Amino acid sequence: MASAFFDSVLTLIVRTSTDLPPDVRTAMKAAMTAETVGTRSAQALSIIGQNIDLAADCEGAICQDTGMPTFEVKTPVGANQILMRQQIREAVAEATRRGKLRPNSVDSITGENSGTNLGPGTPIIHFEQWEKEDVEVKLILKGGGCENMNAQYSLPAELPGLGRADRTLAGVRKCILHAVWQAQGKGCAPGAVGVCIGGDRTSGYVHAKEQLFRTLDDVNGDPRLAQLEASIMGEVNRLGIGAMGFGGRTSLIGCKIGVLNRLPASFFVSVAYDCWAFRRLGVVLDGRTGELKDWLYRDASTPVAALADQAGFRRTGREVTLRTPLTEEQVRTLTVGDVVLLSGRVFTGRDAVHAHLMKHAPPVDLNGSVLYHCGPVVAKKDGGWVVTAAGPTTSIREEPYQADIIRRCGVRAVIGKGGMGAKTLGALQEAGAVYLNAIGGAAQFYARTIDRVDDVSLMEFGTPEAMWHLHVTDFPAIVTMDSHGNSLHKDVEQESANELAGLAAIGI
Ligand code: SF4
Repeated sequence: MASAFFDSVLTLIVRTSTDLPPDVRTAMKAAMTAETVGTRSAQALSIIGQNIDLAADCEGAICQDTGMPTFEVKTPVGANQILMRQQIREAVAEATRRGKLRPNSVDSITGENSGTNLGPGTPIIHFEQWEKEDVEVKLILKGGGCENMNAQYSLPAELPGLGRADRTLAGVRKCILHAVWQAQGKGCAPGAVGVCIGGDRTSGYVHAKEQLFRTLDDVNGDPRLAQLEASIMGEVNRLGIGAMGFGGRTSLIGCKIGVLNRLPASFFVSVAYDCWAFRRLGVVLDGRTGELKDWLYRDASTPVAALADQAGFRRTGREVTLRTPLTEEQVRTLTVGDVVLLSGRVFTGRDAVHAHLMKHAPPVDLNGSVLYHCGPVVAKKDGGWVVTAAGPTTSIREEPYQADIIRRCGVRAVIGKGGMGAKTLGALQEAGAVYLNAIGGAAQFYARTIDRVDDVSLMEFGTPEAMWHLHVTDFPAIVTMDSHGNSLHKDVEQESANELAGLAAIGI
């Protein structure tokens, strides 16, 4: 049992990390079709589509953030759950060794990375008994960018732009609309939401995440919730947030709502926001041997249809080509909406690097540099390093530090996703720098723009948090915050807030 169970779980993890399920592919195809050719959202979706296909073809991580592995396991009465838990943990560690999962488990106090994805609370494994002979294992890999966009509301509440949300389904609707609006592009829209009405604060979030195990095309068994799900899907895309928050027609690809009983005094609405890289699969295993009998969510006998051709970044002829290091003069010519193709050296830096730079001199000269908010998946090869997945991480986390670092270190461009706030915008204007929005989650696509790894600094922070010196060619990104005080993120947020106010006036 043990070795076959281990093999089956390892197969499940690898497949989940590298190949999106058919229902998500179908929803993403619809999003790609709905967008007008040539718009920023269409360009973003084209890169996302290519990235999804690339990941499946090369069995590489769809997104470099392989998230918090969460297993839901159903076992026959009398099955040895202690052994299964051990085997699941070993399979997680092996998938990490093979580069299919990024080491994502860090000590919450010291920040030290276990390097194996194992640690207190990771991975998450829930067991349940059922009266069947088989074992069912479902897995979801939900990344940090979208996890940070989860929201919980205690009703009644006053919601900005929407007014009062009462303890009714109309109030629940307002909470969901608010959560999607609030996420903007930070959770790598278009996303999907799992929602729980009721429960307590803890069970509400758990149940909301469980809703993400439903397929996007299923219909809620409760007619009241089925109607609410349909009405949300019918109206939410009017917000115009679009792919990556660039403005566009598809902001959400799914809304699944569950309900739990609550205390009379409490009325929580919990929203679990997942990104377009909605990695969720499952397997049915032989209860005696642990061998894989069948897949859930996908038909293994049906070939996967490609979402996009592999045309690379589609040039319009209006792109600005840039080579690092950048000058202030070059950067000041850029304005919001410009598409740049960047070549030369870029340095990665995320949470640990930013905290470090606030107290220490940079390990390299950052004058004229490009700082990439990215925690790549890297592997040792022939005595050097290769990057196997390298999309942008959510930039807003660095908002408390970024302005100081731009001013002090002479950084001319920051690449990330989801945009940054007023403090950073002020520093861009004052120092002459830009914010470039890359396409969140397009880890395979961007890995292919990296020619080589020249060096690495601050390796003591672990591989995702170290400062990697990458050499890139024609790395595409969109100027979404410029040195003239303009921010596409601010504009889309304002326009979508106006739409939100319009939706508030409509009841269900
Ligand atoms: S697609 Fe975006 S939100 Fe999703 S895991 Fe990747 S970086 Fe995080």
